[in-house]
Amino acid sequence: MRFAVFGDIHANLEALQAVLADAQERGCTHHVCIGDIVGYNANPHECLELIRELGCPVVKGNHDEQACLADSHDIFNPLADAAIRWTREHLTDDDKCWLAGLRLIRQVRDFTIVHATLDMPNQWGYVFNHLDAAASFNYQYTNVCFYGHTHAPRAYVRDEIVRSVPLETLPIEPGKKYFINVGSVGQPRDGDWHASYCIYHADKNMVELRRIPYDINTAQDKVVAAGLPQRLADRLALGN
Ligand code: ZN
Repeated sequence: MRFAVFGDIHANLEALQAVLADAQERGCTHHVCIGDIVGYNANPHECLELIRELGCPVVKGNHDEQACLADSHDIFNPLADAAIRWTREHLTDDDKCWLAGLRLIRQVRDFTIVHATLDMPNQWGYVFNHLDAAASFNYQYTNVCFYGHTHAPRAYVRDEIVRSVPLETLPIEPGKKYFINVGSVGQPRDGDWHASYCIYHADKNMVELRRIPYDINTAQDKVVAAGLPQRLADRLALGN
């Protein structure tokens, strides 16, 4: 069994298509989405349709949550808010109903998925360091949990202590817990513009990080043509 685990798609259809094509090429048999399908970029409905067609487990992200609300409540920064206001107008009622029904945490086979953190999943806190990860580990009952939200791929392990470990190819050892950020498909923020996702090789007990080139020019042109802030197009190339 080989799982393609991805999230923070953020309405970037070109990046999502490239990731799904790579996952197919790499022999992935299952898909798992850790949320934030919408927000920031120009194809929220199309990305949502594609994910729904996959019929895979999905958890809710903070942008998914905000997209379903009637109005904004000063939770987002101005850039994210401009995009979410635009997004609300470009999703169908059915899209919003589906997003609103997503759960915050799910167990898939022998692993868990959550968008932000396991300790307070509805508070949308960020795991930026081993202390943040330690708080989440207290509520992790499976060996492996995949998450996103920071848009930067990285992995934490808890054995005697909680520490950061390289994610490129990460062996999953029994008796340890792993909290793994799969990075962002549609708006990476680690200085690398390539779409990010992970493959969980369940039969080999190994997680692999993938970085995938995509048609970034088309994605940027769509952002500008949609009337979304220019900065949202620019940041795709910068990976921030
Ligand atoms: Zn996000």
